[in-house]
Amino acid sequence: MDLVTLRLDGKPVAEVVDAETRQAISARGASRAPSLVSVHRDVDSPFRFYLRRQSKAAAAVGVTFRDEPIPADAGPDRLVATLAALDRNAGVDGVLLEHPLPPPFDFRAAIAALRPEKDVDGVGALNLGRLVQQHPVHVPAVARAAVRIAQQYRLPLEGERVVVLGRSETVGLPLGLLLASRQPGLNATVTVAHSRSHGLESILRDARTIFSCVGHPGLLTRANVPEGAHVVDVGLSSVPDPAKPGASKSAGDADAASLDGWAASLTPVPGGVGPVTVAELMSSATRAWQLARAVGSP
Ligand code: NAP
Repeated sequence: MDLVTLRLDGKPVAEVVDAETRQAISARGASRAPSLVSVHRDVDSPFRFYLRRQSKAAAAVGVTFRDEPIPADAGPDRLVATLAALDRNAGVDGVLLEHPLPPPFDFRAAIAALRPEKDVDGVGALNLGRLVQQHPVHVPAVARAAVRIAQQYRLPLEGERVVVLGRSETVGLPLGLLLASRQPGLNATVTVAHSRSHGLESILRDARTIFSCVGHPGLLTRANVPEGAHVVDVGLSSVPDPAKPGASKSAGDADAASLDGWAASLTPVPGGVGPVTVAELMSSATRAWQLARAVGSP
């Protein structure tokens, strides 16, 4: 008989994160709220969707949010100058930078204009290096979100075999490092696989929990996921919506229909990792604000 696949909804987890953030803000009783700025090129891109989500999530917890568009015809120098100015601005606690960026922009060079305290998505070299050393200032929100969902639903991590699919420096690798870190409830035995890995089915065979960060809809099915495994689907792609000709919808890496009754649990897309990621971003901005206040900013 098929098992019942538990749906790991992100919304209740995001509500827990939001409640912690509100509590942290009110506990300080400060004259000004945490302040977050999202920097992006002023072009019509899918990033605008994330901006709206960030703005709404910030308002819901009491973080002051604004976006800083870089004119469409401006080059990398202008972007770096904008980030450097935000880094110096004591009224700004955290800064996000849209990515990926098209050439000639260099994401690594641009994010380096921020101190690790202001790099609230933890994607600069200093934060990533400090993650390796197990004392990051900020960890990428998507990695924190995937782990938070897994912990909230008590998925097997501690000492367990876990596979992370994807090795990008902003998603897959930081998630793998976080899962493997020496923290109670983590300490996972992590395999990181990627597009050059041979034999997905054999890589996943002994996995208790799979974190998929690829961006290939339909990658995970009964054919490669072991029966009874837990799946945290970080992948997010836009696919045609068969119910609405001409429209598109979000899809994860997992084929939910195939895994239903096979996987022990699965995060939905949309509604799984996404809402928790934006909640974790607000949490990081609030942490940046706490850090800034600890060193005497207004
Ligand atoms: P990315 O830079 O394109 O990286 C994709 C990774 O997947 C690469 O490491 C690639 O390997 C690997 N890969 C490709 N095909 C594979 C296969 N068949 N088997 C195993 N690995 C394979 O993307 P990203 O920025 O890391 O984002 C990953 C996904 O997460 C995307 O769908 C993105 O939209 C989503 N995302 C979601 C959230 C959220 O809040 N839910 C936030 C951020 C990102 P190589 O390194 O060999 O190329």
